[in-house]
Amino acid sequence: MGYFRDSQRIVVKVGTSTLTHNTGHLNLRRIEKIVKVLSDMQNSGIRVVLVSSGAVSSGVAKAGFGRIPSTPEEKQAMAAIGQSELMKIYDRFFSDFGHTVGQILMTKDVLTNPDRRSAAENTFNRLLEMRCIPIVNENDSVSTDELTKFGGNDILSAHVARLCRADVVLNLSDVDGLYDSDPRTNSDAKLISRVDNIDEIMSLAGGAGTDRGTGGMIAKLQAAKLCVEAGIPMFILNGHDPEILYTLLDGGHVGTYFSAKRD
Ligand code: GLU
Repeated sequence: MGYFRDSQRIVVKVGTSTLTHNTGHLNLRRIEKIVKVLSDMQNSGIRVVLVSSGAVSSGVAKAGFGRIPSTPEEKQAMAAIGQSELMKIYDRFFSDFGHTVGQILMTKDVLTNPDRRSAAENTFNRLLEMRCIPIVNENDSVSTDELTKFGGNDILSAHVARLCRADVVLNLSDVDGLYDSDPRTNSDAKLISRVDNIDEIMSLAGGAGTDRGTGGMIAKLQAAKLCVEAGIPMFILNGHDPEILYTLLDGGHVGTYFSAKRD
């Protein structure tokens, strides 16, 4: 019995450290593998929603900016350059595997404004009914403040999952899952394979992630809390080898599974 038995809609979140090299440029080999596995999931009848980071990092690299953007305006400009680069690559790779993608750029106020929320919901539903793969990112080029910013794609992916009533969220990161202590400083740290009480576990998260993404374990646990409270289970998995998703599809277990109340 696998995790995907009744799962019609799956939100897959992929972080910047998975999608880009240390140079900031897109890791094309990795992206192609991710696209292949997601295309296969889509072929098997699952409806995939991809929440992808990587816009700012690839914009910085493509523009030859040479440093981490320090002002909101610089970051917004880099995101504008990188987002189109990112979509060009996704469109090309997904097309190679016979799939059509559509871009949805979200701001937080979409969730709180009933008309905009319902428009976004309808767009997701329509794309999924048409068997298109929505590719979602924060609209970094225009979101500037508390009202419009989600504060990272871990949180965005949880909101997207709630909006399109997903069955499960797969959060692909650069760690194997949640550990009982920080594996970067403690070689005895043990991977936790299942979490049934998210509140008990919130204190285990360390600090921020890499310097190119905004994630880190705290954001992932906050995302997991948003998901499980809405009845949506979530996995944290290592995206280094995207083929581990096949293990889940084949009924196995990888990473950390956060069970939802309806489990
Ligand atoms: N939206 C940002 C980007 O595409 C990433 C945010 C995050 O890493 O959580 O660069």
